[in-house]
Amino acid sequence: MEGVLVIAEAQAGDAPISEATLKTLAVAQKIGGAALDVLWVGSDLAPLLARAQALAKVRTFLTFDDPRLAHPTATLVAGLVAERARRYAHVLMPGTSYGRDVLPRLAGLLKTPMVSDVLEVMGARTFKRGIYAGNIHTVVTVPDGMPVLLTVRLASWQAVAPGAGGGIPVEPCPIPETLPETARFVALAVDPSDRPDLQSARRVVSGGRALGSRENFALLERLAERLHAAIGASRAAVDAGYAPNDLQVGQTGKIIAPELYLAFGISGAIQHLTGIRDARTIVAVNKDPEAPIFKVADIGLVGDLFEVIPELLAELDRQGAEP
Ligand SMILES: Cc1cc2nc3c(=O)[nH]c(=O)nc-3n(C[C@H](O)[C@H](O)[C@H](O)COP(=O)(O)OP(=O)(O)OC[C@H]3O[C@@H](n4cnc5c(N)ncnc54)[C@H](O)[C@@H]3O)c2cc1C
Repeated sequence: MEGVLVIAEAQAGDAPISEATLKTLAVAQKIGGAALDVLWVGSDLAPLLARAQALAKVRTFLTFDDPRLAHPTATLVAGLVAERARRYAHVLMPGTSYGRDVLPRLAGLLKTPMVSDVLEVMGARTFKRGIYAGNIHTVVTVPDGMPVLLTVRLASWQAVAPGAGGGIPVEPCPIPETLPETARFVALAVDPSDRPDLQSARRVVSGGRALGSRENFALLERLAERLHAAIGASRAAVDAGYAPNDLQVGQTGKIIAPELYLAFGISGAIQHLTGIRDARTIVAVNKDPEAPIFKVADIGLVGDLFEVIPELLAELDRQGAEP
């Protein structure tokens, strides 16, 4: 066992290398070691690999490239890569739904424990990670004699910058003629809006129970459009049906780290705050001056969101400038 293996997210078409993969590479570089290889599973990987040549400090690209792997399921990926992954001292995946789905299965196949949600590398086998929804940090050490498998808490890491790169060899891995069909890809439902993705957006406009209805929640859309922001929601807003489930921010939703987080009518329950702990600037609008969100907000405004949002939009329009 030697070297570090990053199992990357293979983006389709001409999409750039995913931010999640670049952050996982940052962790791999922090761990250091003899060699860093990146493994991709997908279909028609050549254009992606050409773009990935800009990555620095990578020894080899390993590929499982086959038209049948255009939408690989976690069971399939774990089974395919297990033999290869076994040779490495460290195997890393991003803490996205892909990584969270694949890595525990891989750990099961390799009969080894795994460390999830790593937020700091303290040594080659020692890591800081969050427990109790990130409210407590714990330090764990993986004993010698077994590989280190870990997922990366994306909100805690910066993406690696592309380097001079170039000349990274590509090594295709053998793919069995018959692939197991324990789980099958059926369909992909993609949000048709061109709004930024909640998990990687630089700005997020978020709404809570106070919005009161699905129609009112649409108020946030104009502001989000104006600010080129993603939309988020509290669990209360999701449970009440004002916003779809995938917009939920917090302990049981998404953990995000935007540069700017605008919270409208959100009280600031601990489970919600867990999701925005790494946001750089938090702006809260709430009509209750005692709302707990004000304890974490960098800028707080006591007011009625139904007055504040139109005023904010009018001011942005008046200034006319790109925010
Ligand atoms: C196990 C568990 C997991 C959870 N996971 C999550 C999670 O992932 N994410 C999450 O968000 N929650 C989560 N929760 C729920 C959490 O505890 C809160 O219930 C929830 O966050 C409250 O949502 P809210 O702030 O929108 O609603 P409320 O707490 O009801 O707050 C509404 C706020 O709006 C303000 N307000 C009302 N009218 C106006 C107005 N017109 N203008 C301005 N302000 C106004 C009120 O003053 C109040 O502060 C979880 C709970 C549990 C038990």
